[in-house]
Amino acid sequence: MTTEDREGRDVAEVRPRHRLEGIAASPGIGIGPAYIVDRGRVQVPRYSIERGDVREEIGRFREALRATQEQLEAIKSRLPHGEHRQILKAQQMMLRDPDLTGDVEARIREDLINAEWAMMTVARDVERMLSEAADEVFRERSSDVAHLSNRVLLNLLGKTDDEIDPPAGSVVVAFDLSPADTAALARADVTGLVTEVGGRTSHSAIMARSLEIPAVVGVEDVTEYVRTNDMVVVDGTHGHVVIRPTRDEIEHWQEVRRRYDAFEDEVQRDHALPATTLDGVHVVLRANAALDEEIASASFHGADGIGLYRTEYVFMGRDAPPTEEEHYRRAKAILRRMAPHPVTFRTFDLGADKVAAYVRGRGAGENPALGVRSLRLALRERHLFVAQLKGLLRAALHGPLRIMLPFVSGLEELEAALEVLDEAKSELAREGMAHATDVPVGIMVEVPAAALAADRLAPEVDFFSIGTNDLIQYTLAIDRENDDVGYLYEPLHPAILRQLRMVAEAGARANVPVSLCGEMAADPRYTWVIVGLGIHELSMHPSAIPVVKNIVRQSTLAEMEALAAEALAARSGAEAERRVLEVMQARFPEHLEHGGVDGLPRPGGPVPVRARSGDDGAGEAGQSSETGGYGAM
Ligand code: PEP
Ligand code: MG
Repeated sequence: MTTEDREGRDVAEVRPRHRLEGIAASPGIGIGPAYIVDRGRVQVPRYSIERGDVREEIGRFREALRATQEQLEAIKSRLPHGEHRQILKAQQMMLRDPDLTGDVEARIREDLINAEWAMMTVARDVERMLSEAADEVFRERSSDVAHLSNRVLLNLLGKTDDEIDPPAGSVVVAFDLSPADTAALARADVTGLVTEVGGRTSHSAIMARSLEIPAVVGVEDVTEYVRTNDMVVVDGTHGHVVIRPTRDEIEHWQEVRRRYDAFEDEVQRDHALPATTLDGVHVVLRANAALDEEIASASFHGADGIGLYRTEYVFMGRDAPPTEEEHYRRAKAILRRMAPHPVTFRTFDLGADKVAAYVRGRGAGENPALGVRSLRLALRERHLFVAQLKGLLRAALHGPLRIMLPFVSGLEELEAALEVLDEAKSELAREGMAHATDVPVGIMVEVPAAALAADRLAPEVDFFSIGTNDLIQYTLAIDRENDDVGYLYEPLHPAILRQLRMVAEAGARANVPVSLCGEMAADPRYTWVIVGLGIHELSMHPSAIPVVKNIVRQSTLAEMEALAAEALAARSGAEAERRVLEVMQARFPEHLEHGGVDGLPRPGGPVPVRARSGDDGAGEAGQSSETGGYGAM
C-alpha cells in the first residue's frame, strides 16, 4: 500500500512500523482514531491602501516579522538540540532573507495592497518555485516557507494561537502542544495524547495528567507515521503507542484497559476515607489544579483541598492580563466549589515556557529558565502582581484561601513580595474594599537555594510546598522540557533527598507545615519515602489521590521511615531507586502497575535510546490496512 505524506512524497516505507515508544506521561489506556494537529492555512484579507499609508503598512509588516522572530526563538529554546531546532533556525534565517521580505515590501509599495495579502502572495510564489525544483532539499523548504508565512500572517492579523478542536473519542497526535493548546483539550473529550517533544514534567504532560487523558510524550517522529483517523492505542502508564493495531491487538488493549479501570474503581471506593496510616498518622492529600474542570475531579477523588492552583493559565492565550475583578471572581468560585477545604493559589508563574503575549520575552534573556520568570517577573510587572493579590485578598473572605509564592530564591525576594502584598492590602483599605487581612502566605521551595536556606525562610512563612519538578531540574541541571536528558531525572538522587529532609526538618523546627507538590508526589513508588522523610502533606494531580491514599492506609509510619532512611543512606539515586522499587513492588504490585507512570527512564541506567519495535515488514502493513476501518471504541 502506498500513500503520500503532506508534501506528496511516497511514504509506503514507513507504514509498516506500528509501535513506537516514548515517555509515559499520564496513566491509562486510550484507544481511538487519530486527530493530527497540523495547522492549516490562515484566511487572508485583501484590501487596497492609500499611497500615504505605505510607510505605516510596511511598519506593520516589520513588526510582525519581529514578533515572529521572537516566537520562533521561544519555541526553539524549548526544543532539544537536533533537527527540529535546525528547522527553526533556518526559518529565522529565512525571515531575514531580503528576497522574501524585500519582495513583500515592494509589493505593498508598488501594488498598494495590505501587508497580509502581499505576504501571502510572495510566500505562495516562493513555495511554488521551491516545490517545482528538481532537488529534494529545495522541495522540502517549500513547506517551511508555508509554515513561516502562516505564522507571520497570524501576527499581522493579531491572532496568537489557532484553537484546536479535536472530536470526542479521538487521540490527539502533535509535534508539540502549546500550553494554550493543551488547555483547549480540557474542553474536548479526547481519549489520548501523543506528542513528539516534551518530558514527563513538561507542562503538556502535567496538563494531560490533570485532565486524566492517557498520554505519551517524546515519541520521535510520530507525526510522520500517523494519518488522521488511523487507529491509535496510547498506553500512558508504560509509554507505548500502537499505530494501526491489528484486530487481535485491539482486543488485547481493550482487556488491558478493562483491568486498569477495575483497579481504579477499586481504589476509588475509599476516596472519602481519611488518609491515615495503620498507626494513626494522618497524611494530608491535596490536589494540583490549573483549570476549572479539575476542581470537580479534585472533589471526586477525595482531595483535602487544593494544594497548588496554577494561576498562570488564566494569564495565557489572551491579549490583556486578567483584572483584579476577574481574579476575585475566579478565586471566589473555586473556593465555593472546594468548601470547606482550603485552596492554595500560587501567584502567577509565567516565564520560561509559560508565556503570555503582553509580557512575552521581557527580561527572559538567552536562558529563560534562569531569567526573569515567575516571582521575579511578578516583582517587575508589579501592576499585574498587585491586581492578582488584591483579587485574592478579597476572595479570601469567602473561604480558606492561602497564597503561595513561586520560585523564591532568598529572603530579600520573599520580603519584596510580602511588601507588594502589604501594598495590595493598603490599596484595598484606601478604596474601602472588604478583604481578609490574615491570609496564610507560603512559598514554593523549588530553587535549590531556598531548600538549602529553608531554616532562614521558615520563620517568615506560614507553609512550605516543595516543587520537585523545578527542584530536580535546577539541582541536577536537567531541562525538564528536554527528553534527551530525561534519563537523568532522579527524584531519589542523594542531592534531592537531602534537600527534602532539610526542608522537612526546617519546617518541623519552626512549626511550619511542609507539603510536596511536584509530580513525584503522585508516583506510588515514592509515597513511603516522602512521608518517611517527614513530609506529611502531598499535593498531586487529582486522579492519583486514591492510589496514594490506599497505600497510606495500608502502611505504618515506622516502615515508611525505615525505607526513607535506607534511601538516604544509598550511595546514588540509582541505588536508592532499586531498593525503593524492590520494597514497593513487593508490597504494592498493582498500585505500581496501574498507578503512577512506568515510563520514567531508570535512574543511573544507560542513556535511553528510543526503541522502535515493529520494524517488521510488509506483514504488518497488510494487517494495518485491514484494520483501517474500525470506528471509535
Ligand atoms: C514544581 O516545580 O514542582 C511545581 C509544582 O511547579 P510547576 O510544575 O508548575 O513548575
Ligand atoms: Mg515550579
